[in-house]
Amino acid sequence: MATQQPVLALDIGGTKLAVAMVTPDGRTHGLIVEPTDKHRGPDAVIAHLFDMGHRSSAAAGVGAPAAVGISCGGPLDAETGVLTGPLHLPGWIDVPIVAMASEAFGVPAVLENDATAAVLGEHRFGAARGADIALYLTLSTGVGGGSIIDGRLHRGAAGNGGEFGHVMVRPGGRRCECGRHGCLEAYASGTNIAVRANELLAEDDRPSSLRDLPLVRAEHVSAAAAAGDTLARELWDDTMALLGQAVTDLVNVFEPHVVVLGGGVTRSGALLLEPVRDIVRRSAMPPAAARATVTLAGLGDEVCVVGAGALALDLTVNLDLKGPARV
Ligand SMILES: [Zn+2]
Repeated sequence: MATQQPVLALDIGGTKLAVAMVTPDGRTHGLIVEPTDKHRGPDAVIAHLFDMGHRSSAAAGVGAPAAVGISCGGPLDAETGVLTGPLHLPGWIDVPIVAMASEAFGVPAVLENDATAAVLGEHRFGAARGADIALYLTLSTGVGGGSIIDGRLHRGAAGNGGEFGHVMVRPGGRRCECGRHGCLEAYASGTNIAVRANELLAEDDRPSSLRDLPLVRAEHVSAAAAAGDTLARELWDDTMALLGQAVTDLVNVFEPHVVVLGGGVTRSGALLLEPVRDIVRRSAMPPAAARATVTLAGLGDEVCVVGAGALALDLTVNLDLKGPARV
């Protein structure tokens, strides 16, 4: 049996591109993270992404990639390898990213929703290792989700299943990027925590340390809440209540062994994890609540890259299985 080769992982985020070589043990090599210059349009950003891929591959020193794994926010068509119109990348309509990557690197490529890739990464190498039923929520530019059911990745019909960010937590509430009103993402994404903080500061004249900042970001809100800022605390508590409610519903629906929370907003650590755990423990149906472990991502900021790598590693195994040597 041939030794499994390393693969190249490409993660296309709304604010940053992350690229690395990933070896079969799940470790990243030659990690490069650079900003997504969205305003330059898909062609320029993809050229930049592929250039990062070549640089990473050269710098990593682990050999040439056997496949390329790509993770990106949806909507996308995983089956045909096309980005049909990602919410975080306006104007990227019907981009055949898998064919483009395969051509650029001369090896097979595979595409998945970023949170779907992330749950695979966490299941294979992180906090959900060994869990038959695992859910993953990412709280970053948007809010995404992925699930492992009976030990296997659940993709949905075209790879867009597990959009946990678009479960409704406040009917008739804030408008979401998807067009509905009151989705979790409209409250709990890093972007929307910051937007809501700015709205609150404009309509509420209470003193707040957030007023001194030129640009309020989600991490400022959590830090100010931890430091006892009343206005920030209210906003943070409201956000955690909505997130806890959404995770409770997911626990009731799936009865998972583990729910993993990842993405930039979870850098706030216990300040996020503890209230969500507490709400799930108190509110979920008793057998499901007792069984579900709610925890933070084990792969940290590298989760999407490792997830994309895991996809590509699986692709190399499948290719190998189809080859004459294994028949
Ligand atoms: Zn939505």
